[in-house]
Amino acid sequence: MNDKIDHYKKGRAARMAFFTGVGALVVAAPFLFSFSPYVLNMFMQAATYSIVVLGMIVVLGYAGQINLAQATFFGLGAYAVALGTVSLGLNFWLTLLLGVGVAALAGLVLGMTTLRLGGHYLAMITISFQQIFDLVAVNWAEVTHGPDGIAGIERPALFGYQLTDDRAYLALSLFTLILAAFLIWWLPHTRLGRAMRAVRENELAAEVTGVHTLRIKVIAFTMSAGLAGLGGGFYAAGFAYISPDNFNFARSIEFLTMTLLGGAQSAFGGILGSSLLILLPEWLRFLKEVYLAVYGLAVILIMVFLPAGIWGLIRHLADRYRKPAVIDEANIPDLDLVVPATDNAPILKIASIRKHFGGVKAVDGVSLEVRRGTVHALIGPNGSGKTTTLNVLNGIYKPTDGQLLFDNVDITAMTPHERAGMGIGRTFQNIRLFPNMSVLENVMVGAQREHNNIARTDQALRERALSALKFVGISDKAELIARNLPYGHQRLVEIARALAGHPRFLLLDEPAAGLNQTEKRELGELLKRLRGHGLTVFLIEHDIGLIEQVSDRITVLNFGKNIAEGTPAEVLRNPDVIAAYLGEAIHATA
Ligand code: ADP
Ligand code: MG
Repeated sequence: MNDKIDHYKKGRAARMAFFTGVGALVVAAPFLFSFSPYVLNMFMQAATYSIVVLGMIVVLGYAGQINLAQATFFGLGAYAVALGTVSLGLNFWLTLLLGVGVAALAGLVLGMTTLRLGGHYLAMITISFQQIFDLVAVNWAEVTHGPDGIAGIERPALFGYQLTDDRAYLALSLFTLILAAFLIWWLPHTRLGRAMRAVRENELAAEVTGVHTLRIKVIAFTMSAGLAGLGGGFYAAGFAYISPDNFNFARSIEFLTMTLLGGAQSAFGGILGSSLLILLPEWLRFLKEVYLAVYGLAVILIMVFLPAGIWGLIRHLADRYRKPAVIDEANIPDLDLVVPATDNAPILKIASIRKHFGGVKAVDGVSLEVRRGTVHALIGPNGSGKTTTLNVLNGIYKPTDGQLLFDNVDITAMTPHERAGMGIGRTFQNIRLFPNMSVLENVMVGAQREHNNIARTDQALRERALSALKFVGISDKAELIARNLPYGHQRLVEIARALAGHPRFLLLDEPAAGLNQTEKRELGELLKRLRGHGLTVFLIEHDIGLIEQVSDRITVLNFGKNIAEGTPAEVLRNPDVIAAYLGEAIHATA
């Protein structure tokens, strides 16, 4: 284990040293080279835009939420500085802080009211917000100075040193950019960043795994808006003059293009995209009349052929030469699955649950109890309501009627992540991983669910995740990207993700589906080991052989109702069950 952690620490320390060196060089660059005022101006624009685009990296690249109002937040920061210093005579730093605060607050409010919707609605609403800002900036002339804009914005002093010199102010902007870039680079490796990426990769799975998805999206939106405000504040004093057309919808689209062009997944991509889109027009100037067409074409071509942006391509090439770390399984601690045993009273009571979809009575009055420390199987023909029952159990659906008691707590109205926080883990019939995250990261998201007191620190989360992977037998795959794994291993990653959260109650929806005979046998062994650890498992499965081996009790559903319940021996001999289901299942097996 220590080898492994050392490896991570060393790798990260080396990268940090490298970036610090490059960062220092960048900040010092305005003084090291004799740039013309024109070039300095361009760099100033690139630096401030990059800060804004870093916000887009968080909201779009990490959390996967579209934001077409980034220029509005940029404008809020700029206007705060412009109005604050020019109209009110306030200190620059105070107005900068105010600008960031106002922008972040606007992002927070917009996020809280709209992020429940997502997708197209989010795009529409952010566009409307952008239009409103535009109208206000142009028409509320008494305050904003209307289309004339605000001139004479002065640069601040720092430690008594007046930053009127272009080079000094640029160095300060670059320093701020590097600092922000460092934080954004670091973010994906934190709990928060992992949760954001999980939301982007599969929001439903993230929520069920215990991520408070709405909160994470709102935080991403707020951070993004705050960074835009910061960029806006620097921009205003950098150029001494602002007007509404610096902050219109076209500018928001420009920020979006910069984000996608450079690579939305990385801070460096954001900086690269911003700088390129500011420099490209300069380079293409010699083309004269056709310049806009060529510029547009170049952007389109890059985006079509490099879906992960330019930085994505660089990463892809670099990854070819990077050997994944070798993990010595012997150093990974065994997975602790122990749940303090109380008694074998029911851990879950389902009382006449109904779930109707319009006229479809998917679940129509199911009642059952699952005893602590048992493996309870739920079987029945296709379409009999098994998955729907599970979806009601972990909160993806609100039941039309009925009640759920988990550990004597009424969970009927709780959200999925709250239920995950109580220790209800789950896998899906059609696998739902976070495909573009590593296997280890997938499982770490599981480990970081709320109230999982086993793993608090990042190191403990990593260790917990490795233990879960070792338990299911694929710890050597930890560093691989989840989507590249074969199907059977993806099923195991999903189980490991659920186990890492230290569940008290595990829901498995057809874990053997799609597995070959060997994999099925291994799954059987895995389920027996889980049972040996005293974990309560609620299992949907079609493979009767597997069910006979591992389950203590079986409930049979048909047309959304239970038709039988008992021990495997009782149920599998029940004539009703044979008529409704087993005839078909045995036939299918044969
Ligand atoms: P099982 O898992 O037992 O195969 P399901 O619970 O997936 O069955 O489905 C039970 C019934 O409910 C099916 O007829 C299915 O078409 C229907 N159903 C499931 N989910 C929905 C939904 N979101 N909207 C409408 N009908 C649904
Ligand atoms: Mg199903």
